[in-house]
Amino acid sequence: MTPDDRVYAYSAVLMGSPILLKLFEHNESLASGVFRLIKHQENTFTVNRPHSDIMAINHAAGRDPVTVSAPVFELIRRAKAISCLPGSSFNFTIGPLVKCWKIGFSGHSIPAARDLQTLLALTNPEDVILDEQTRSVFLQQAGMEIDLGAIAKGYIADVVRDYLREQQVENALINLGGNVQTLGAGAEGAWAIGLKKPFSEPDTLIGVINVIGKSVVTSGIYERYFELEGHCYHHILDPKTGYPLDNELLSVTIISEDSIDGDIWTTLLYGMGVEKSLAYLEQIPHIEAIFVTRDGQIILSSQRQFTFTPLDDSYRITTY
Ligand code: AMP
Ligand code: MG
Repeated sequence: MTPDDRVYAYSAVLMGSPILLKLFEHNESLASGVFRLIKHQENTFTVNRPHSDIMAINHAAGRDPVTVSAPVFELIRRAKAISCLPGSSFNFTIGPLVKCWKIGFSGHSIPAARDLQTLLALTNPEDVILDEQTRSVFLQQAGMEIDLGAIAKGYIADVVRDYLREQQVENALINLGGNVQTLGAGAEGAWAIGLKKPFSEPDTLIGVINVIGKSVVTSGIYERYFELEGHCYHHILDPKTGYPLDNELLSVTIISEDSIDGDIWTTLLYGMGVEKSLAYLEQIPHIEAIFVTRDGQIILSSQRQFTFTPLDDSYRITTY
């Protein structure tokens, strides 16, 4: 079948999220190939089921090193390096805290402060020992748990992009529940990706981001949260305190070449807040950000790799 200019959308629910694939040809077998690939990756990285490569490492915490495949080792190496950056708000050993809060899952509650203190002691990324020779991962303390939730979707979005490229696909979009990766320019000269209005219906947009062959990743506190006594407890935790990160931000969107960078940087910048992030991003031209703040601002760090069209006049736009 020859490619045409109609868009064919394929969807599935995987990794607890709606997954959308857009192609410019009707190709069920390619779509199945993509969903199979995502399922395989999910089975490798999940911590929401008893068995996966990551769960094997977690189950052996305090006991044995576990040898993993080269791609899993590489992703863990990367996650550790980011987690160990000075002042990093990204911490891939945050698992015990995530499990304790259960935000976005049934049975959520506010943990006792002393329980959080106890669990914080199990979240030192330096306590993850990596051995390049044997490709093994060892969590030094019993009770430690790796959680790759803040990086895995970005990684998988790039795996899908690379797979589509191998299949000679030049124009496509994959949306892994908020992590979007694109090939080519779509039907209208650029792909249009909606920026969601925080705490609103999923299709209420405050703007549209246009990209060609770039990734667009959004991390927002409205994605998973619960409310209690007027306070919003959301799923991005502060590794220093064990509580949800509390600052002026409602969401951070990253536009970048690789979706894994987008996934990493949303979490890193979330912790930095707007001002520090803007200063930081001046040195990293391939990473661009859009911040949505509690006081109704949309702040764009720069617009080298995308264009932005606002759709809601109640937000003030600032561009740097
Ligand atoms: P994301 O959707 O990329 O913002 O990642 C959110 C997920 O990452 C959460 O659901 C947790 O599983 C995990 N997580 C929460 N806080 C952190 C953190 N500070 N560093 C790394 N991962 C985190
Ligand atoms: Mg992330």
